[in-house]
Amino acid sequence: MRIGIDFGGTNVKFGLFDEEGNTLKFAVERVADLAAAGSLLETLLDAAARFAAGEKLSRGGLGMKGMVDVRAGGVINDVGAGNEFAGIDLRARFAARLKVPFAFDNDARAYAWGEWRFGAGRGCPSIIAMTLGTGVGCAAVIDGRLFRSSNPASGLLGGHMSIDRNGPECPCGLKGCLELYCSAVNFEKQLLAAFPELTAETIPLKAFFAGAGARPAWAAIKREFIDNLAIGVINVMHAYGVNTVILGGGLMKSHEQIIPGLLEIVKRRAWMVPKGNVRILPALLEDRAACLGAAFLDE
Ligand SMILES: [Zn+2]
Repeated sequence: MRIGIDFGGTNVKFGLFDEEGNTLKFAVERVADLAAAGSLLETLLDAAARFAAGEKLSRGGLGMKGMVDVRAGGVINDVGAGNEFAGIDLRARFAARLKVPFAFDNDARAYAWGEWRFGAGRGCPSIIAMTLGTGVGCAAVIDGRLFRSSNPASGLLGGHMSIDRNGPECPCGLKGCLELYCSAVNFEKQLLAAFPELTAETIPLKAFFAGAGARPAWAAIKREFIDNLAIGVINVMHAYGVNTVILGGGLMKSHEQIIPGLLEIVKRRAWMVPKGNVRILPALLEDRAACLGAAFLDE
C-alpha cells in the first residue's frame, strides 16, 4: 500500500492506494488549519502519520507546490504557505516519520504522472497536463518518463508563458502571462467584474460557461478565453513535440463547453505535432491526480 500527499496552496490531500492505483482512503485538510495548530511541518507530519496509522505502507510520495529540488528533496522557493519549507529535506522527514522510502517532486509533475499512469493519459506515449486552477500548472510526460532535468523549472512552463507582450503585468515580472487570462481564479475575477449578475450564482464559472450560448456578451468573452487558452496549448505542444494535452483544474468542470471549440482552433493551427493530429482530453482523476502520481513517483 502506498501513501501519496499533495501539498497545494489551499489544501493538503492524503491518499492511500493499492499497487493498481485504486483509492483505499482519501482525505483533504486545509493548510490554514494545519498552520494554525503550530509548526506547519510538524502538524503536516502528524497529519500524515495519523492518516496512515495502522496501515501497512510500502512506499510514499509527496507532490509539493513551488519550485523544488528533486535531488535535495526540498523546496527551493515558493510563495505563501510552504515557503517555510525552503532548505528542509522534506523527503527525508516524511520517510523517517512514516518509515517507508519516500519520493518527492513538484505538484504539477505529480499531477501529470497521476493522469498519465492512471487517468486520461493511460496508453498515450506522451502527454502534457495543464491545470487551470489557482494558477496554470503544467508538466509533461515524454515517452513514458516525467520530463525533468537538473534545472528545477524544466518542463513546468505553462502559467508564466507570455501570450501578449503588451498584456498586463504579472506578479512574476513578465507581461501577459497565460495564467492572467486562463487560471480559474483570474478568469473568475474578470467575469465578476464584467458581469455582476454572475455574483448571484453559487458557481459563477460553471454558470458562465453553461449560459454563454444564449448571451452574446458572454459568448464573446468565452471565445476570447478559448482563443487565449489555444495559444498556450499550441505553444506547449510545439515546445515538447507532444500532441496530447490533458486539461484539469477547477475550470475544467465546464470542459464540455470549452474543449470542442478549443480543439477546433488547435487542430487548425498546431502544425508541428503533426498538423491536425491533436488530442485535448479532460482530466479524469481531478483532485486525486497529484496524490496518486506522488504515490507512484518512484516508478
Ligand atoms: Zn507570470
